[in-house]
Amino acid sequence: MAKILIVEDNALNIKLFCDLLAAHGHQPEAVTDSRNALAAAREFGPDLVITDIQLPHVSGLDLIRLIRKDDQLAKVPIMAVTAYSARGDEERIRAAGAQAYVSKPISVVRFAQTVDELLQGEAEPAGESEAGLATEDDGGGGGGPSEAGGEEA
Ligand code: MN
Repeated sequence: MAKILIVEDNALNIKLFCDLLAAHGHQPEAVTDSRNALAAAREFGPDLVITDIQLPHVSGLDLIRLIRKDDQLAKVPIMAVTAYSARGDEERIRAAGAQAYVSKPISVVRFAQTVDELLQGEAEPAGESEAGLATEDDGGGGGGPSEAGGEEA
């Protein structure tokens, strides 16, 4: 079981993500107002943060940067969920410090698989996105050449 903070302003997506995570045995907590997200994350102590990018007030990109700069949260993996589809957007999201990116409408399988990978520390570290851009279809099967990451928390 992992504690997973969801930052999302859309109620239907919150329900979908929470149901999905709970069905996988996790403990989700949702924040709808991104202005409260950093404080909520500090209090909740999540193993993973899932954030929407298109958020009112504090954007998902800014929130990712804030989390990365926070002493307590800097190493928590972040998964961005966004309707953006342009390649430049993914680069910006990864450069801001998110380890994974899933586009909406989400594939339930890909969503769950990405959550598992992040919790197991298999995702590429943040900030190495230049090398990571070639790994677009890493969603297949899960039997890929997973690197033996020493970053497991
Ligand atoms: Mn949104």
